[in-house]
Amino acid sequence: MTFKQTQEILDRKRNLLIPCVYHFYRNPPVLVEGDGCRLYDRDGKEYLDMFSGVSVNHLGHCHPAVKEAIVRQASTLCHTTSIYLTEPMLDLAEKIVAVAPVDRGKVFFCASGSEANETAAFLSWKHTGKKGLAALENSLHGNTALTLSLTGIGFWKNDLDPVETVIHAPAPYCYRCPFGKEEKSCDLECALQLEGVIADAREPVAALYIEIVQANGGIVVPPEKWFERLKQIVARQRVLLVADEVQTALGRTGRMFASEHFDLKPDIVSVAKSFGGGLPLGAVVASDEVAEKFTGPRASTFGGNLVAARAGCAVVDTVLEERLAQKAATKGQFLKSRLLELKRKYPLIGDVRGLGLMMGAELVGQDKSPEPQIADDVLEAMKDDGFIVGKAGQGRNVLVFMPPLIVSTNDIELAMDALDSILEKKGFGKS
Ligand code: PMP
Repeated sequence: MTFKQTQEILDRKRNLLIPCVYHFYRNPPVLVEGDGCRLYDRDGKEYLDMFSGVSVNHLGHCHPAVKEAIVRQASTLCHTTSIYLTEPMLDLAEKIVAVAPVDRGKVFFCASGSEANETAAFLSWKHTGKKGLAALENSLHGNTALTLSLTGIGFWKNDLDPVETVIHAPAPYCYRCPFGKEEKSCDLECALQLEGVIADAREPVAALYIEIVQANGGIVVPPEKWFERLKQIVARQRVLLVADEVQTALGRTGRMFASEHFDLKPDIVSVAKSFGGGLPLGAVVASDEVAEKFTGPRASTFGGNLVAARAGCAVVDTVLEERLAQKAATKGQFLKSRLLELKRKYPLIGDVRGLGLMMGAELVGQDKSPEPQIADDVLEAMKDDGFIVGKAGQGRNVLVFMPPLIVSTNDIELAMDALDSILEKKGFGKS
């Protein structure tokens, strides 16, 4: 495609879409096709997808099992809405409940992660009779008024905090500890503050939202000891724990749910993204005890949509049958070891972190200041060389690697070799 044709499409976008709709890249490819871990643009140029549409395509693109489930259901009945009795949503609920880290779970289906997190708030309010909500700084929980207020990343908040009963506590972000502590010797000042923020809240807190790995915050994994304190805090303060596993669920981190890494038993778990196999699907899973008070009514037009539910069943079955969570753990180790090699070679990479196939590399200057411009340049160069990589972080300076769980080690090698040669060419090697 010529430069002029790309500009024409960008012009159409500018004329038709509200300007908040943003995309990666100065010179973005127009993606038209996908197959396994590969994406193709309008010119037939091939890309290795190392981002999975932001942790959606766990089985890659157009997986035969998902395609077949979608086509078969779409040829029979697409939509009725949840006020009519249908079975695909029950089949999917059964599968989700069987793997979710919630005791005797019950499910509410909707169409997105934001909607799932909204529903979690209603469940918490109804169950506790309290109205306040707490979340962590550096978090992302959605794009609705409430979930944007829960979100801690300024970049996404658009200077708005529409729901004033939401409070935030410092995140356990060890590379940039808000209290200047070192992880090994720290006394978990962030956990102390978290408990203080909840205890002193003007509006008593019904629930605390956390991402097990702060995804958009830059793949930040809290230390194990923080999770131990977290369990004590929610028990002492009598707040429900909402685990937002929208990005981390279904094997991404090397376990079916990231909560399992820390023996965490949330009261409510929200999921979306990967569960729809590329179709819009969100769900919230609540323990029987929390669920029972929410007698509604509440409906979501597309909640339990037949086609999305059938796609979801195919995704969960395939992840389990092909042991993709276990494979994500092994391949994730390999990806991490290659990133750590690059960190030793390039001082620009200040930190490498993550779980399973959810890895981040934080790009920094000599004084550890974020390098968002270089992150953009590297992202653009990777794309030009045929690799789609993500970007996140408060400072938008963290490269994100979340390939489909079916990725081969050979493909991981190719992506890491490309990153190595780009950083070398750009002169970031040790002098
Ligand atoms: N929670 C997390 C952790 C997310 O990353 C996102 C979106 N990136 C959401 C919630 C919101 O999901 P959705 O865009 O499906 O509403």
